[in-house]
Amino acid sequence: MKWTAELLFNHLKDVTLGGSICVYTLDICETLVPKINAIMKLKKEKNAIVLAHSYVVPEIIKTVSDFTGDSYELSKKAKDSSADIIIFSAVKFMAETAKLINPNKDVYIPSDLNGCSLADSITGDDVKQLRKKYPDYTFVCYINTTVDVKAECDVCVTSSNVYSIVESLPNKNIYFLPDKLMGQNLKNELKKRGSDKNILFSEGTCYVHEEYHPDMIDFIRLKHDDVSILAHPECSEDIISKVDFTGSTSQMVNYVNQSPKSKFFMLTECGLTSRMQADSPKKSFVGTCTMCKYMKSNSLDDILNTLENLPEHKKISIPKSTQEKALNCINKMFELA
Ligand code: SF4
Repeated sequence: MKWTAELLFNHLKDVTLGGSICVYTLDICETLVPKINAIMKLKKEKNAIVLAHSYVVPEIIKTVSDFTGDSYELSKKAKDSSADIIIFSAVKFMAETAKLINPNKDVYIPSDLNGCSLADSITGDDVKQLRKKYPDYTFVCYINTTVDVKAECDVCVTSSNVYSIVESLPNKNIYFLPDKLMGQNLKNELKKRGSDKNILFSEGTCYVHEEYHPDMIDFIRLKHDDVSILAHPECSEDIISKVDFTGSTSQMVNYVNQSPKSKFFMLTECGLTSRMQADSPKKSFVGTCTMCKYMKSNSLDDILNTLENLPEHKKISIPKSTQEKALNCINKMFELA
């Protein structure tokens, strides 16, 4: 498919949330189209695919991305693909997970600002020390962790399966990491379900989801009495106790698509709201979202440059011993999910 500025503008003109970064005029589309067409050509020539997280900018999601979703969905897509090269437009820990599941494929991370406040809050060595301090605990890590951290944990979880997996573990003592807000939500939810788990958690946070204040919810309900409010479990317990639905990125998408309501406030990164807005023009999205600087640093320029040059420093490489241990942690999740 060959993109034109008019076609691109038609796809993106309804996107208005997220500040100036997500506003598209015909002139802006004219500057983007040559890069998009060059990427499409290179993908074909090199048997490559682009996987994009829902939080990256709409001009990537709507054009060069072969699949868009949350980190877990993207890793599964990477496994099913017959491409030789995977360009992972997201942050580094997600590209590492894709490489773990696809050891024989070349996975590249195009953006240089590819960290994450949550994943970078704890290292593999920190987990080793914690394991010495809490030898009787089962260590559960959220998928938003580096490969070194996964290699030191017993089982990995996602925001969709965290409650059911932790509930099913035979050990009463659980150490959850790295998200303290999600850890508190996990504790509250399992208590509600009558589970007697003894849960400790580390102190990391996602700076995007941590920013929301519960007063925002009261304010939005006051202005829009027919609004449905959704939050990601990386938000604080004060938020979770006030919203209509809590779930992972893909669970929120399903909720909005299936809801008879037409107005929503989504307490998560702006990318998801703008994606939903472009995909569902009959639904309206109110309130303010928050942007992740790491995800929003993904650009068409970086994808083009990576595809053209396949730079060694952007290629994900994992030592064999770490690969085996981290894969065990992920496979345990597949077994229990
Ligand atoms: S939104 Fe939060 S968890 Fe996701 S990449 Fe950004 S900082 Fe990390």
